[in-house]
Amino acid sequence: MLYRTMKKNGDSLSILGFGAMRLAQKDQKIDEERATRQIRDAIDQGVNYVDTAWPYHGGESELFLGRALAGGYREKVRLATKLPSWLIKAREDMDRYLDAQLKKLNTNRIDYYPLHGLNGVLWDSLNSFHALDFLEKAKKDGRIVNAGFSFHGVSDVFRRIVDSYDWEFCQIQYNYLDTETQAGKKGLEYAASKGLGVIVMEPLRGGNLGRPSPPPTVKDVWDMAQRRRSPVEWALRWVWNHPEVTVVLSGMNEESHIAENIAIAQNAHPNSLTESELQLIEKVAQTYRKIMKVGCTGCGYCLPCPADVLIPSCFDIYNNMHMFNTTAEAPFMYVMRTGGSLTGKPGYASQCVQCGECLEKCPQHIDIPMELEKVAAELEGPHLAEVEQMVRQILFKSIDS
Ligand code: SF4
Ligand code: SF4
Repeated sequence: MLYRTMKKNGDSLSILGFGAMRLAQKDQKIDEERATRQIRDAIDQGVNYVDTAWPYHGGESELFLGRALAGGYREKVRLATKLPSWLIKAREDMDRYLDAQLKKLNTNRIDYYPLHGLNGVLWDSLNSFHALDFLEKAKKDGRIVNAGFSFHGVSDVFRRIVDSYDWEFCQIQYNYLDTETQAGKKGLEYAASKGLGVIVMEPLRGGNLGRPSPPPTVKDVWDMAQRRRSPVEWALRWVWNHPEVTVVLSGMNEESHIAENIAIAQNAHPNSLTESELQLIEKVAQTYRKIMKVGCTGCGYCLPCPADVLIPSCFDIYNNMHMFNTTAEAPFMYVMRTGGSLTGKPGYASQCVQCGECLEKCPQHIDIPMELEKVAAELEGPHLAEVEQMVRQILFKSIDS
């Protein structure tokens, strides 16, 4: 296992982190025995960063880790869980959630504590409740060691948040298709330049970039590689090739995946990919972009929309559904990201009132209102209310429920 050092505190973290969002399951519950064995095996092989959050597995992931890390494993890892930002309605809520998380995790400190899933709206809301004062006090009394934030907003908001506090780390979505979306490459470099450790999530874009059978045109490009590697290996190596990246989180729930990820993490050094390998990966990214339904780069120049449509998110989920054939999961992701749970107000495609304000702002000259009609037709079917209810149940399982 390779390790990289957190600039601000000198922690030596395994480049592969164990994400506890998609643990092994049996009968729609965490398969306690198998998942415990998997996480302990990974730790025995050098993984020393474990990440969870309040809503993962309907609130069961933190409880599971409290048990799985007993018997000396807790001391071998840096443990991360996140403040459920969208549930915070008062200053004291932050202390209540942190205390509950410490109890669930059966520990007296959280080593890495990010504010979960920030975007501009959530950041402003947390600030109004003095989140930075909360973090300072929690550090001082030892309940948390390092403060950070995870991020799903647009790039200028990312910069604003980085500049707001002396964060130890941040957590961003980053993979070879998301270099321009969310924090993107610029955000990664900016955070690193400010001394923040960078934890990367979604290195395989929800597992999609690692599928053994990619779309035929993508497979044709991979087949041109001089060196045979699986799509998973290419995708992970690409992220680890960035010296700015500290840890890559992988949601591992199959023994073979864990073995493969650990094997790759033995020698995925920064700047170790050759120029021709990087070109090959860029060609794969371009090929994926060609089969996107809408050529949206996620730049966010079309925002804000007067009708609050979250235009880039709508296109991102719509594209993902068509590129990776994720028809079953797409409505859930769509409601999760545009349904308003995390932003305070919905941003569905169907809210578009065709005012045309966004048209001249789009550098890709996309007919945004026309494409949004298609998004609404495919993603806002008769089951929308049912999916909304499901998302609410997962995200809003509060401390009092
Ligand atoms: S055309 Fe639709 S998406 Fe574009 S700004 Fe107007 S309401 Fe928003
Ligand atoms: S629709 Fe155009 S302006 Fe809006 S995010 Fe996509 S590419 Fe950028």
